[in-house]
Amino acid sequence: MTTRNLFLLPGDGIGPEAMGEVRKIIAYMNEAMNAGFVTDEGLVGGSAYDAHGAAISEADMQKALAADAVLFGAVGGPKWDDVPYEVRPEAGLLRLRKDLELFANLRPAICYPALANASSLKPELVEGLDILIIRELTGGVYFGEPKTITDLGNGQKRAIDTQVYDTYEIERISAVAFEMARTRQNRVCSMEKRNVMKSGVLWNQVVTATHKDKYSDVKLEHMLADAGGMQLVRAPKQFDVIVTDNLFGDMLSDVAAMLTGSLGMLPSASLGAPDGKTGKRKALYEPVHGSAPDIAGQGIANPIAMIASFAMCLRYSFGMVTEADNLEKAIANVLDKGIRTADIMADGAKKVGTVEMGEAILTEFKALSA
Ligand code: NAD
Repeated sequence: MTTRNLFLLPGDGIGPEAMGEVRKIIAYMNEAMNAGFVTDEGLVGGSAYDAHGAAISEADMQKALAADAVLFGAVGGPKWDDVPYEVRPEAGLLRLRKDLELFANLRPAICYPALANASSLKPELVEGLDILIIRELTGGVYFGEPKTITDLGNGQKRAIDTQVYDTYEIERISAVAFEMARTRQNRVCSMEKRNVMKSGVLWNQVVTATHKDKYSDVKLEHMLADAGGMQLVRAPKQFDVIVTDNLFGDMLSDVAAMLTGSLGMLPSASLGAPDGKTGKRKALYEPVHGSAPDIAGQGIANPIAMIASFAMCLRYSFGMVTEADNLEKAIANVLDKGIRTADIMADGAKKVGTVEMGEAILTEFKALSA
């Protein structure tokens, strides 16, 4: 039997509550489908700080590096607002991204028909929306050097951030985009600012060359990132896969997120390069939302983003496409039935807590898998 090693890092706040619902799905898949998931669990964020004085222990980092995939809940909360900067809860997530070399961040923006009214756009613009934003995560202006604030001595200061991209960084992120597109509608839109930025010129050239070299079956379009932002709120359904750099991706993926209604619905994946021998990528799956301290411990958090992150894990780390489709369909069916957590509540719907939502999705998943 295939063994699939999952390392669970539930984290803080609502992280453990949401992860609890994924654990039940894993147990069902092992029992009914012989899925062979072997799970281990560690601490990250504030909970790791309380136990080890670090945002993630070295032992847990080693387990994350050895696993086939990491499932991450959320970190942070007011309790740890004043801990030293280098051990703040977010440092655990940043360390994981860095040490696992997770350069490709995948953020789907899916608008379930049942939630089209919760979007800030007109329902007809977003109903059935299904786009995938691929953001470069380890390069660009957030990491480029020099990165300084200098006192000019005349009452002025000068701040410098540096946008840097090398060819290989653009090649590997565009390859991820083209490969993902092949599993979807086979269309990629690359966004940069080649009209005013040298990094945009190189980005455009490398994406074009990568496409010509290996992925000419995929339809490629280029768009200036500012125009892309406008198009995302004007006619978002025109897109399939969008690929862009770290800075533009940060903003455009948040814009796209809001088209879908609620933070409690949004999954994400971060992938590394394929291993030379096994072809497997290091991967971390996490909901986009944080630890939601305002509702933590009340049993009312929406577990859908966490469950949908696990569906991405099935699809991208284990090639379990049917199972991933069924889990996503289970979420859609439960929403169609009018079952809602508080954050997505609507008139006439049935309000449930975290556990009931998780169980409703599992029941639907079982029916679809039968
Ligand atoms: P947040 O995402 O935790 O919460 C924002 C709002 O959305 C809150 O009102 C919250 O109740 C609601 N919300 C979020 N997820 C929900 C869910 N699944 N179900 C129902 N409602 C949900 O963001 P924040 O309040 O800005 O940050 C809280 C803490 O989380 C901070 O310590 C922050 O640093 C941390 N944070 C962590 C991550 C991460 O772990 N990746 C991401 C963002 C923020």
